[in-house]
Amino acid sequence: MRSFNGLYFFLSCNLIKEVILVKEKTSHTAAEAKEAQPAAKTAKTVKTAKTVKTAKTTETKRRTSRKGTGSSGRAAGSRRGSTRKPAQGKTQRRTAKPHAHQNHKEEAVVENAVVTAGKEAETRQPRTRGRKSSRPKLRIIPLGGLGEIGKNMTVFEYGDEIVVLDAGLAFPEEDLLGIDIVIPDFTYLIENKEKVKAIVITHGHEDHIGSLSYLLREVNAPVYATKLTIGLIEGKLEEAHIKGDLNVVHPGDEFRIGAFKIGFFHVCHSIPGACGIYFRTPVGTVVHTGDFKFDNNPVDGEPMDIYKIAELGHKGVLALLADSTNATRPGSTPSESVIVDSLHEQVAKARGRIILATFASNVSRIQMAMDAAMAFDRKVCVFGRSMVNVVKIARELGYLKVPDSLLIDPEELSRYSDNRLMILTTGSQGEPMAGLSRMATGSHRQVQIHAGDTVIISASPIPGNEIGVGRTIDALMKLGAHVVSSENAKVHVSGHGAREDLKAMLALVKPKFFIPVHGEYRMLCSHKELAIGLGIPKDHVFVGENGSVFELTNRSCHEAGKVTAGPVYVDGLGVGDVGNIVIRDRQQLSNDGMVIVVIALEKNSNQVAAGPDIVSRGFVYVRDSEDMMSGATDRVEMLLDRMASEGVTEWSQIKTQIRDTLGRYFYEKTKRRPMILPIIQEVR
Ligand SMILES: [Zn+2]
Ligand SMILES: [Zn+2]
Repeated sequence: MRSFNGLYFFLSCNLIKEVILVKEKTSHTAAEAKEAQPAAKTAKTVKTAKTVKTAKTTETKRRTSRKGTGSSGRAAGSRRGSTRKPAQGKTQRRTAKPHAHQNHKEEAVVENAVVTAGKEAETRQPRTRGRKSSRPKLRIIPLGGLGEIGKNMTVFEYGDEIVVLDAGLAFPEEDLLGIDIVIPDFTYLIENKEKVKAIVITHGHEDHIGSLSYLLREVNAPVYATKLTIGLIEGKLEEAHIKGDLNVVHPGDEFRIGAFKIGFFHVCHSIPGACGIYFRTPVGTVVHTGDFKFDNNPVDGEPMDIYKIAELGHKGVLALLADSTNATRPGSTPSESVIVDSLHEQVAKARGRIILATFASNVSRIQMAMDAAMAFDRKVCVFGRSMVNVVKIARELGYLKVPDSLLIDPEELSRYSDNRLMILTTGSQGEPMAGLSRMATGSHRQVQIHAGDTVIISASPIPGNEIGVGRTIDALMKLGAHVVSSENAKVHVSGHGAREDLKAMLALVKPKFFIPVHGEYRMLCSHKELAIGLGIPKDHVFVGENGSVFELTNRSCHEAGKVTAGPVYVDGLGVGDVGNIVIRDRQQLSNDGMVIVVIALEKNSNQVAAGPDIVSRGFVYVRDSEDMMSGATDRVEMLLDRMASEGVTEWSQIKTQIRDTLGRYFYEKTKRRPMILPIIQEVR
């Protein structure tokens, strides 16, 4: 293994060098081209001719390939037809082979596109003489993941075709009260439904697959991803009772969707089957890294496909979109495997039970934990619905290698002594409803924490979750547990590359244009600086935001307006029905409580028949505030008298006045702003 790694690194270093050399050559050529500008006109003609020629070649090639398969288009179509038979009530999964997509419809689309492009070139030539090619531009539109960690989604659009990359969710921050998850606003995709030809997914983390079931409700398109990712998606869609056209892709596969030639290449991350994805488009190749880090000793044994990345860079990449999560961190992110030793050490030291919490989707970490349990003769019991799910799917698909004898059911826990047990659970982020938090608060049905337990939190808090995690740790310690976290031991490493990893990626891909993605604003900016430091011109690097439209030709990239984008809140079964106003109300209620003013008015005279009665909740302790509350009643009475004498009878006006008067009064007295809810009843 070691010698293999040596070779691997030697080769990668050489590749990097080679690519850098190539880049130098390219820039030289670019400079030459600039000098030779007067000849541009000739170059243009040549180029147009070349475009048409390439188009023709494609056409011929496709025809040949049809001939080559020895079957007519109809036969190919019917073959596909049979594989496409809708599975009833169940999601269907197919293995995507490159040729499987060369069906009738798509071919027709491509040929049409070629013909249209040709025609356009013919008709538009006189008008656009001396201008650039009349081909459509490639549009790249991030709908999520910019200026935030979470809900990743990027749109690639060329002509009438859209391919969507990732459909993730974000977990709500603390101030989004009652919100379960946040998903991207995909209005743009709903408005362009017919254009969406495919959804490609880089890997199975929630911030990349979590909103897919919501997207598929609105947009019907086939989904492409590697085996484990498809497995995880399948589970989610079944839960949501949604059918999907799911297709398994193998890293290294390349297939055509309309004008796009799409390829997957393996990257290292904290989940197996993670990929970067490239799009060969008529204007050039665009590479999206997905989440990645360079890991020379990956736990799942599969190294990064540096060869493919370098090859792409060697042939020329128009634009790169790359993970910026750790762009502010110096150095390189250590390999997942550095945790192995420290996990073993912790397990060896523990005298009682071990409770290990991590992300449900961190399959690599789960594998390491189980390996450590096995090494020290402990049985493993898995808790938390999502983790049980992931373990099941990952085992079925061969990504998690664990013997049956290692795992036990919760009912069997009592059969083993504490030092023979490891409990795996969710809740590493302090989420109140997840396993670890319930154990910490004593509300878990099967596991009660007691002195002697060792709790290992093998994750670092996502920004915003620090308080929740801290609270959980406090509670665990109060119950007598020994808590190990990344603060006092090496039990977690990031799945995202730090600055040196990012530099290596940029050096390998050598893109003409660079768009940092997957990060908060400062991370994107830091990634931008880094790229500029590596020689990418300043005006070739773009820090955008969700909804930014980037338009690319084979030689230019610029921001061209915006489309609708933003967060959509999911609360229970409601998607998007909770907007900012509702959130503001919830925040006000949770901060300062509520005051209700009930008044009964006589129907015709508008005289006060009863009240005002003032009731409050979550505002003040009423028994200690009787004076203030009777003062409030007086104010309302005075206000009602005044309005009656002024002849004010509009209820809405009466309500507004009550709200204003009481709002001012309570703020003077308490410096709080409770929600004030006047209720007027009519009596005869
Ligand atoms: Zn990820
Ligand atoms: Zn991610």
